[in-house]
Amino acid sequence: DPRHFQPLNTWTTEEIKNAVASHVMTTWSPCKAKNDLPIITHSSHIYLYDSDGNEYIDWTSQAVCTNSGHSLSQHVKTAINDQVDNLHFVYGGIAMTEIRARLSSLISELLPGDLVGCLFPSSGSEANEAAITMARRYSGRPKILSFYRSYHGGTKNSLSATGDFRRHYQQGSADFVKAFNFTPNFFEHAGADEDERVRSALLMLEEQIISENPESIASIVVESIPGSAGVLTMPLAYMQGVRAICDKYGILLHIDEVMCGFGRTGEMWGFQTYPGVLPDIVTSAKGLSSSVAPISFVAVNERMMEFFEDNAPGWGSTFQGHPVAMAAAYANLTEMLTTNLVGHVQSVAPAFYEHMRHCAEVHPSIKGFRALGLYGALDIATPDGEQPHEVHEARTAATNKYFEATRQNGLLGLFRPPHIHIAPPLIISEEEIQEGFDRQHRALSVLDEELGF
Ligand code: PLP
Repeated sequence: DPRHFQPLNTWTTEEIKNAVASHVMTTWSPCKAKNDLPIITHSSHIYLYDSDGNEYIDWTSQAVCTNSGHSLSQHVKTAINDQVDNLHFVYGGIAMTEIRARLSSLISELLPGDLVGCLFPSSGSEANEAAITMARRYSGRPKILSFYRSYHGGTKNSLSATGDFRRHYQQGSADFVKAFNFTPNFFEHAGADEDERVRSALLMLEEQIISENPESIASIVVESIPGSAGVLTMPLAYMQGVRAICDKYGILLHIDEVMCGFGRTGEMWGFQTYPGVLPDIVTSAKGLSSSVAPISFVAVNERMMEFFEDNAPGWGSTFQGHPVAMAAAYANLTEMLTTNLVGHVQSVAPAFYEHMRHCAEVHPSIKGFRALGLYGALDIATPDGEQPHEVHEARTAATNKYFEATRQNGLLGLFRPPHIHIAPPLIISEEEIQEGFDRQHRALSVLDEELGF
């Protein structure tokens, strides 16, 4: 087709739609869903624009990843261009580069404790894939224990560790054990006070570990604040207890920071919500390059680093340690540090929290919310007006109407009922947060009405 030799931005909307309908596939939804998605033509700051001229606030930072927003700084563009001009690629298995040395040392400096060794896959799923393999090889143990309310990725092992979507996509790999981490604070209506609930949650976890044989468990994989499952902050005592159980049984603690890492929660790392709880393995992605390039990292503690000096980690991919992706990440991180982006998140977090609280207060369709930093979830009430219990529910006619209303009111984001995730780019100002919530209220009024509240 000669049209392929035309410059970009010359196809009509009709031509784009036809090609999408005939040739494009999607991932987690039936493919025909693609035909309802807006065609985004350009973006700037926290805004996205579609081919019909509509403006949207990037209300969940895409998949919680465009943390630095949509206007790339000259610093980031120059770093990427320089890397492309100078050396766009060498394979990480046969050559080293300055950018790899620098990014590895910067990440080690940003991580507390003795997390020193770094690897750079291309996605969060791959980072968890690598980390699971490394935990097994290091410990000589086969099993991975993770939690039902979790998302760790879409590749074989990361999906096997995942609890969300399990009914649809679990592929049943051997040696993955799920615990009922019932994230104790989520089940307030379970009766007992928090201390009591934490104590029983930890007892059940330990009981399960003993039943599995602790010496068969390589690692416990946990999101510091399970994100897809609804931004579930866990009590400090629970996370301290998980760390203590790991120490008692020689199990590695792998904290998945793919969504929380790099400032989302108002700290550099989500696990800093739990002072003193340090992981043995950390994985992260998304905010690392703020999605300018696909890149993730795995960092391991000193003992693992030493072990892998003489033993292969046993995971690889052609594009791990991609110089251009690492240059994008490095420039993004140095900019985050010089502009004190994490400090900015802390300064707007109280306003964000207040807006979230207000949504739960004034909309009967919302029962419950959680928020920290610029990371929040509202819970859609059950028909009885109660807090929902499900991790993920199928969309209904009413929630579809709500979703349409978000787009009509200029919000574009993920939607996973019964949770409404709100996680705008970290550069958002207090006035823009206000603007976003004005739009959110209009969409929630539609939900109130549709649900008959
Ligand atoms: N881990 C967590 C906590 C995530 O939220 C995600 C993605 O949303 C992943 C892993 C998978 O990352 P990716 O989609 O980059 O493969």
